[in-house]
Amino acid sequence: MICRVLITSVAVLALGGSSACSRGVSQNQSVALAAQLQGPPPTRSEILRGDYGRLRANNDLVYYHLDVRVDPDKKFISGKNTIRFRMLSDDNRVQIDLHPSLDVDRILLDGAPLQYTREESAVFIDFPRKLRKDSTYAIDFQYSGTPLDIRARGGIGFRRDSTGHPFINTVCEGVGSSTWWPSKDQWHDEVDSMRISVSIPNGLTDVSNGAFVGKMDLGDGYTRWDWNVHYPINSYDVSMNIGDYVHFTDTYKDMTLDFYVLRDSLEKARAQFTQAKGMLAAYEHYFGEYPFKKDGYKLVEATNAGMEHQSAVTYGNGFKNGYGGRDWTGVGVSPKFDFIIIHESGHEWFGNAVSASDRSDMWIHEGWTTYLEVLYVEYTFGYDDALKYVNGYKTKVLNRQPIIPPGGLMRTPPQDMYFKGALMLNTLRNVVNDDRRWFALLHDLYQHFKYKNISTDDIVAFFNQRTGRNLTPVFNQYLRHTAIPTLELKFDSAAKTVSYRWKADEPGFAMPIRIGTKGAWQIVEPTTAKWKTMPARLTPETFDVATDLYFVNVVKQ
Ligand SMILES: [Zn+2]
Repeated sequence: MICRVLITSVAVLALGGSSACSRGVSQNQSVALAAQLQGPPPTRSEILRGDYGRLRANNDLVYYHLDVRVDPDKKFISGKNTIRFRMLSDDNRVQIDLHPSLDVDRILLDGAPLQYTREESAVFIDFPRKLRKDSTYAIDFQYSGTPLDIRARGGIGFRRDSTGHPFINTVCEGVGSSTWWPSKDQWHDEVDSMRISVSIPNGLTDVSNGAFVGKMDLGDGYTRWDWNVHYPINSYDVSMNIGDYVHFTDTYKDMTLDFYVLRDSLEKARAQFTQAKGMLAAYEHYFGEYPFKKDGYKLVEATNAGMEHQSAVTYGNGFKNGYGGRDWTGVGVSPKFDFIIIHESGHEWFGNAVSASDRSDMWIHEGWTTYLEVLYVEYTFGYDDALKYVNGYKTKVLNRQPIIPPGGLMRTPPQDMYFKGALMLNTLRNVVNDDRRWFALLHDLYQHFKYKNISTDDIVAFFNQRTGRNLTPVFNQYLRHTAIPTLELKFDSAAKTVSYRWKADEPGFAMPIRIGTKGAWQIVEPTTAKWKTMPARLTPETFDVATDLYFVNVVKQ
């Protein structure tokens, strides 16, 4: 996802306050938890949305068939989601989510209606008899209504293009998939595969995730478009894009690239979308094959600026380089490429293939993908541009709150997860200080975690194991504290020495760094514990620190 959308979702969250004390967590527990994690106490809404409690953890998603009909004139949707899941423990209740703006019509198990209760977006479904551990069940969840529009902080945008045709896109990472379809609206669990069927008025095209299966004239003025997703998929990645699209293709190696744009955009898109091939070449170079080959790679013009919908990346960057035509990092590099193609497609590797299992760890999507931009620049334009590009992000870092907020509440991390996250990874490259090992580590980390939902601890453990260093305090300082580390330097001109140590919030923080003279750096290993001293003929004015390689503050005294 890109920041403009991210900021919108923060606003949604701020407005989404709630009421009384909770069922799962008592008020006292909530207050204690919040104090411990330095955030406002969790609201009932946050717990309903974010907690991966018993009624979600008792089952494991296997398959969805979302079959939805969209009436663009009435802005009305109706349909069903067939949800297949395997029970992980004996239970007679599960939580599925659907926004209160939409009606539950019926929920069926083997054709028989089930009882349910609703609270905000949660739908608690009760079964007449206990569902058994290790058994698989399928329910049909039928629903209809007028979903909240994006302008009302929903997940669906009903627009028209310049010629008056309906132009409808979904984007729901912040507000949740349940704003437009019944789903297990959380990050922990993904279906193994999915079918998406979208029925729309004849003449329009739907582009959803996955491989195109076919379309069928329903004989009532509507056509159903069917798509098969062959891989695990986050619920917020599931999308429909409905419009008067034209379709053109390109090829990359043995893969067909499918592009869908509005009629007026065709010539601009034919020129701009050639960048998809360079993007694929760069990311495949560092991480390995495009992760969703059976589903293909699609770029789809949309009303949102851009979103990483799995295998159907949506695009709204105006067919211009930079971000919205601007030099995004202000250092002359981003006008060389289309930011949205490069960033959103990078999420196919980090975000969609490697996914965070809780929204609080969203830096695994955004920090990594921002770093993937840097790697794209390095692969395409060279190391000097990449270093310039990543350092250009420093002006966007705010350092006002830790990157990782309290977990289990669907709180959106601050935008530092993008830029500070990427700068932290650039720092770690120089801690490893061996590019061959660094790129092998990146490649293997991706391969190890692809198609999995993981936590920050999984990433840190992988780094520690592969580098043989305890990098936990380094990750903690950048991700779990507000400030970046400060290198303190104390000069003694009479003794011709400099003393150095780290000032950091994280106990035991230690990190090597290059100091002295550019081109003839000395690597030292400061700690927070005590000053270390080394000879230095340089004065404080001429003594340098490689701050373009490490994201740190320097204080000289
Ligand atoms: Zn993103």
